[in-house]
Amino acid sequence: MTTGENSEQPAILELSCPTCASQLRFAPGTTHLTCVRCGTTSAIEVRTGPALVEQPYDEWERDNAGRQVSSLGGVVMTCEGCHATTESAALASICQFCRGHLVPVAQPDGVVPPSGVLPFLIDRRRAADAFVAWVTDQEVGLDELKNVNAAESFTSTYLPLWTFSATATTAYEGQRGIRKAVRLDDGRVELRADWHDVSGSVDTPITSHVVEGRDLGIGQSRIVRKLDLTATVPFQPEYLAGHTATRYDVDPAAAFDEVRRKVEKKRIRNDVRDDIGGDETRIGSTTTTYSHVRFALLLAPLWVLTYVAAGKTWMVLVDGQTGQVEGEYPVDRVKFTLLVFKWIAVFVLGFCAFIWLLDKLNL
Ligand SMILES: [Zn+2]
Ligand SMILES: [Zn+2]
Repeated sequence: MTTGENSEQPAILELSCPTCASQLRFAPGTTHLTCVRCGTTSAIEVRTGPALVEQPYDEWERDNAGRQVSSLGGVVMTCEGCHATTESAALASICQFCRGHLVPVAQPDGVVPPSGVLPFLIDRRRAADAFVAWVTDQEVGLDELKNVNAAESFTSTYLPLWTFSATATTAYEGQRGIRKAVRLDDGRVELRADWHDVSGSVDTPITSHVVEGRDLGIGQSRIVRKLDLTATVPFQPEYLAGHTATRYDVDPAAAFDEVRRKVEKKRIRNDVRDDIGGDETRIGSTTTTYSHVRFALLLAPLWVLTYVAAGKTWMVLVDGQTGQVEGEYPVDRVKFTLLVFKWIAVFVLGFCAFIWLLDKLNL
């Protein structure tokens, strides 16, 4: 007996090719799925409407207080290909028996579903080309870098990100300094600030501020900082077919704390400073409250390459939308030393030319 348990199996996306029954995969830069074997394409019924719908944070908090994503189970999925059952907390995964693509169409209660997605625009080939161009630019990289088979080794994954919008209202107390000229005893004139106590309140609008929903442990922050959200489209599970996508592990409450920490450190302080005005400014106390807080989950595409060179594992990331490369590489000590010598030679020659010129002018 299944007392109280939900015996209903959540639906998974049908991803078998209508022609050959192999797996369909979202083809980067298109709006269709392509069969990995015969190339048959199947159009995605693209949803229209706002790209990212941020939901009221208060309502979500009220309904999910104290519930943590780490305590929520995965989704049980039966593979269409081999009928094996897999339980996974990922938004998209691969069947370990037949490599079938598993994409659940719904998430368990309490898990925030993605609202928007930046679909892959760059395919594996272009990611590999971007890597090769990047390697060529590294003047001091080891030669063996050029032998890395990037096309083979890249994997594609979607990063979970939170976006928050809100109005931050900050009540402050501080001092405004107006400079005026003061004549000193010795006759000199100096500018000194006259300080006046001020207090007030200033609003700081926060619009889709992005923070990471999971640390993938691959240094993804470098890519996240440069993301362009204008290409966001409404989420559809089809965009995940054939790629991996992990569930977020930073709960919305922790993500909101992070947003507050970031905006209060810089933007709000700047707004308070501007509001106080004057030639010089002193900020005393501030108290910030947030209203109209809304949030959403967004997925961003990433090509990930790990390669071994000089006896070490290295990581390179390619933004799946822009092809921008971020990563580390082993430095060739001989090339590096030669480059340093080149700089020194240029500097010394420049210096000698300068001395020679000075000498000539003095004659
Ligand atoms: Zn096919
Ligand atoms: Zn399977």
